[in-house]
Amino acid sequence: MTMMLSEKHISAVHKILTVGEIIEPSSPEYGSQKMVWSGQKDRHPRLVLKPRSLPALQKTVKYLCESDLDFAVRSGGAGSSSASDIILTMSAFNGFHFDRNTEIATVGAGQTWGDIDRKIEESAPGYAGVGVRVPFIGVGGSLSFCVSWISNNFGMGSDPQNLLDARIVLPDGRELWASEDPGLLWALRGGGGNFGVITEAKIKVHPFTSNICCFTIRFPDYALPAVSEAVSAFSKRPSEPKVAMHVFLMDLEQRTLRGEAPKPCLELLIYDAYGKEHAQSEDGFKWALDIDGAMVGPMSSVTLRQMNESQGKRNFQCKRVVAKGEPAAKLRSYMGMNGCLSTAITDNIDRGILIRGKKWWEQVIATNPFLGANTYMILEVMQEAVFASSGGRGATAWPHDSRGHILQLCVGSAAENGFSEELALDLLRKAPAEILPCHRPGDYIPLFIHEFHDLSQIFGQNYERLREIKTKYDPHGRLNKGFFIPPLKTCQ
Ligand SMILES: Cc1cc2nc3c(=O)[nH]c(=O)nc-3n(C[C@H](O)[C@H](O)[C@H](O)COP(=O)(O)OP(=O)(O)OC[C@H]3O[C@@H](n4cnc5c(N)ncnc54)[C@H](O)[C@@H]3O)c2cc1C
Repeated sequence: MTMMLSEKHISAVHKILTVGEIIEPSSPEYGSQKMVWSGQKDRHPRLVLKPRSLPALQKTVKYLCESDLDFAVRSGGAGSSSASDIILTMSAFNGFHFDRNTEIATVGAGQTWGDIDRKIEESAPGYAGVGVRVPFIGVGGSLSFCVSWISNNFGMGSDPQNLLDARIVLPDGRELWASEDPGLLWALRGGGGNFGVITEAKIKVHPFTSNICCFTIRFPDYALPAVSEAVSAFSKRPSEPKVAMHVFLMDLEQRTLRGEAPKPCLELLIYDAYGKEHAQSEDGFKWALDIDGAMVGPMSSVTLRQMNESQGKRNFQCKRVVAKGEPAAKLRSYMGMNGCLSTAITDNIDRGILIRGKKWWEQVIATNPFLGANTYMILEVMQEAVFASSGGRGATAWPHDSRGHILQLCVGSAAENGFSEELALDLLRKAPAEILPCHRPGDYIPLFIHEFHDLSQIFGQNYERLREIKTKYDPHGRLNKGFFIPPLKTCQ
């Protein structure tokens, strides 16, 4: 049972932190420091704590873990980390250092990958880190996963060759580099925020081209069968680490927010690290450009930072934001909308996948047209290296050792429209079986986990070891947001 924050707790917090480190709901900083991706998950915390030094963080973590308060650790909020009493924001942990000799960057966990991409580009032009593909994701909440466009070359950001070490404050207030206990570092590679609060990490930074070709291709409705078949054929080509793509099925025109009936758009987002010429060739994406009805967006040559930023800046027509005086909404403006996400993984993109995906989308909208605002399917077509570079299924907490593609699904609506989380979760629970014929219960990545997911299936052979490590570091299960690995026994 958790307790409500009382005067006693507030005065205890004031003994640990300075006034500037305690953010009240009346503070201008409060909104941005507690903001979550899925609006319905906002628990409107009574306080946000922002320790600015390691000792202050250690005392805060110890106090919160020994208390009965409902608290959550937050870095970027894209994982919708929230709690009713206290949010512990890591935003003051924003250091950055790059060592050119070792090609290792030490990065503070409270900043976003957009910050890291920019800092790498400034201090080490021609290099790139394996982060994520949109700029506003927090380092701390994503470090245990991290799929980037360059994962197609180098594997996941959390794989041993990329996440080299992490400094962590444990629930009892001690701090250590996780490499001091190889089991802990292993657990951080997939096991989420279950073991302590990460303050900084050492990540490998790789030389990488600054000439990535990126563009979109949108298709009319009638092209759906042809695109579905061609995407399947592309996914079955021999692995080529420099090309990848995302397939979007969503109402990119945001008709629901304009009071119109929603309609899904079919669009490919193309990534080609060989550049423009290759992208248009037979070895690249000529097959997609040649599909009848293809509407090709502007092609740009960009760095990885620019590629990631372009997604954050992407325009979606959206009445809500136009009303605030901006010409169009950015992807970031989806933050705060209601929505439940789920991310399945599959090794087989068959020729009917997009046709079944569209049917699923239409069935969801039929339950409530308002869901047109934030219901989508994104198929992330990946190359072999992404999930086959970890060193085997036992090498990291989340087992992965072969080519896989991600099916990201979201069911949601604008904040002002009614939303039933129960209905959304039920639709998401049933979705993979409807879209992926060979889906098995463990075929999920360890992000956006809900009650219907079975962690023992997702972590498979590694689950018991993960629970042992949880028991060693957080025996009372106080770090219980995101997904929760239950300790083996509850200590009194
Ligand atoms: C639009 C969108 C695009 C995405 N794209 C990608 C992508 O391209 N690649 C990819 O890999 N992932 C992607 N993700 C998933 C993203 O990596 C996860 O949602 C991640 O958990 C977000 O981290 P955060 O710090 O922003 O979130 P938060 O909500 O701040 O945190 C998420 C979880 O991590 C824990 N946590 C946060 N900070 C710390 C810390 N310092 N120490 C310990 N635990 C901590 C929290 O307690 C919470 O459980 C995407 C998500 C969204 C919404």
